[in-house]
Amino acid sequence: MEIILVIFAALGLPLWIGFIFYIISLQRKKARQLETQALKSFVAKHQFKLSEDNQIYGSNDDYRVTIQVLSRNDSTSWLHLALVANSKERQSKSLRLQDIEKQIATLLSKRIPAIHGTSEIKLSLSERSVSYKCFEYVNHLELERLLRLYRPLTELLEAYLAVGESGSVAMPILEPIAQDETYVLHKLGSPLRNVATQLVMDIARQNRTQFNDPSFAYICPTCLLRFQIHRVKISSLNQIPYCGCRGCHQSQTFLHNKQVEAVLNAGMTDEWSENQRDIQVNWLARRSLFDFDAVQIIQATDEDVERFAVQVGNDTDAYRAERYGQMKCTVSSKVQLSENTLRILRKTFGEVVVGEKSAS
Ligand SMILES: [Zn+2]
Repeated sequence: MEIILVIFAALGLPLWIGFIFYIISLQRKKARQLETQALKSFVAKHQFKLSEDNQIYGSNDDYRVTIQVLSRNDSTSWLHLALVANSKERQSKSLRLQDIEKQIATLLSKRIPAIHGTSEIKLSLSERSVSYKCFEYVNHLELERLLRLYRPLTELLEAYLAVGESGSVAMPILEPIAQDETYVLHKLGSPLRNVATQLVMDIARQNRTQFNDPSFAYICPTCLLRFQIHRVKISSLNQIPYCGCRGCHQSQTFLHNKQVEAVLNAGMTDEWSENQRDIQVNWLARRSLFDFDAVQIIQATDEDVERFAVQVGNDTDAYRAERYGQMKCTVSSKVQLSENTLRILRKTFGEVVVGEKSAS
């Protein structure tokens, strides 16, 4: 051993340097072979294509993909992975609230493998895409490392689209996450830091293109409340507006340009009926308040009417409370209401009409 060292020492520094370069070039060659192998098996597995300069592109049933090294020198490179989900019918449009919460939890629990250097992740609802870019110090197998992101990024994109496509109903769940600076994924350097904010802005952008009329022209068929403009505060200076149900915030389903009539009708079998202009909702079946523009009493007892009037009188909803004073209440001539009940109605609503004649 000592003899070998003496020989090396005698041959001098140039040989040492040459030896080190030889070892490095061997390692690089091996790394390139492994990289090419990894790329080939990846493209074969996912039916993508590999270009001569080892860039991956193409599409399969689920995604269109580009994976490339944007620029490379000896020690650094920009890597880029872009995925576009192919359009296909999704279940997400009918997601229930708890499913959305689950998807958001999935979305925010994704761990994108740590890559040294700077990285950025951009998701887009309208383009159905995710783009991951990182600037890193390259040792070897950099593309192979990027390939490992393929699966977590596809899962991230799927969850993002599922939540995004369920629309504004997700906003109240996203708002505290987007605001919370201490949220675990908001840690500096985490590529997922801004996912909740991106999602809020994406949903709001799509929402704005959907509603051209004033918000109150739309009614939530579940809550029977009119839509309003909500705002998501994503920073102290930035509030993002969107249009959605005053109660549940959803904007996927709605009734458009309808007058809503609260009806007290013991002879009505369904809770509500709809024609081209109006929706009639039987308060006797619903027993709770909703947004209505007029009242019609067709078949009801004094007790029913009084109970209804008490609910209206105690209504703390600001939007509705200021409208009752201008509202018309029609009482069918077939209903025999006591003078006391009529007095309560007159106190509650702006105008009370019995049969064809005004009773106010
Ligand atoms: Zn609603």
